[in-house]
Amino acid sequence: MGKILAITNQKGGVGKTTTCVNLAASLVATKKKVLLIDLDPQGNATMGSGIDKNDVEASLYDVLVLGKGVAEVSVHGENAGYDIVPSNSDVTAAEVELLDIENKEYRLRDALAVERAAYDYVIIDCPPSLNMLTVNALAAADGVIIPMQCEYYALEGLAALMDTINQIQESVNPSLQIEGLLRTMYDPRNSLTKDVSDQLLEYFGDKVYRTFIPRNIRLAEAPSFGMPVLFYDKQSKGAVAYLALAGEMLRRSDKEQTAAAVE
Ligand code: ADP
Ligand code: MG
Repeated sequence: MGKILAITNQKGGVGKTTTCVNLAASLVATKKKVLLIDLDPQGNATMGSGIDKNDVEASLYDVLVLGKGVAEVSVHGENAGYDIVPSNSDVTAAEVELLDIENKEYRLRDALAVERAAYDYVIIDCPPSLNMLTVNALAAADGVIIPMQCEYYALEGLAALMDTINQIQESVNPSLQIEGLLRTMYDPRNSLTKDVSDQLLEYFGDKVYRTFIPRNIRLAEAPSFGMPVLFYDKQSKGAVAYLALAGEMLRRSDKEQTAAAVE
């Protein structure tokens, strides 16, 4: 059964979408079957996967509001190698319309209940806010991956995010885990970055991925060609880093499974 991971941080511009697209492609490169759900009405993950958000027959709106199945709405990203539930400005309406719908927090979870079996990983790109869309992601997810830039205000933002995750655990999803924290746009030569990173490691220990994502122009360029960096420039530092992240994730989950089997 597919593991559902929400890539979240209420701060914008920290690398959520970049992580979704490139982690998804890297998992596909290791022969995993992946579904990417674009939960952000901006549709950046959709476009970055080579799907024109203005030219899709259905979107996440149809799943959340009209109750359509994920398989009905998803499209295969030819440039990307994974399936995607696209998003566009229609999804802004879903945010409002959901408020009047029964089980509003669980629409995504329920839509994935059966369909997740067809995938190894379901990766959800969250919008930069804590609205009903993000609640749907956190209610559906097994784990959250938190991309963060190691800068001065990052830890403050992280404290707020941890409060949110606690609230979700106490209400809609008691089994929600923190899967990992990912340092993005990371420059180990910058001393402030290093300080923040050290604090992060101190508080969160093994939850911080050893792999960090360096600042790499190829990662920023790839979306305008509608493809993950792996297909745009396979040799780039960005591509190598996201492949390493996928490898680290898979090793972690093997270890967890072994530990569970021993218990
Ligand atoms: P979010 O989804 O959190 O808002 P994005 O993934 O869209 O963040 O990233 C914000 C901007 O930074 C985008 O223009 C993206 O291309 C760029 N970016 C993200 N990660 C990197 C990186 N490691 N190196 C260089 N640019 C990056
Ligand atoms: Mg984004």
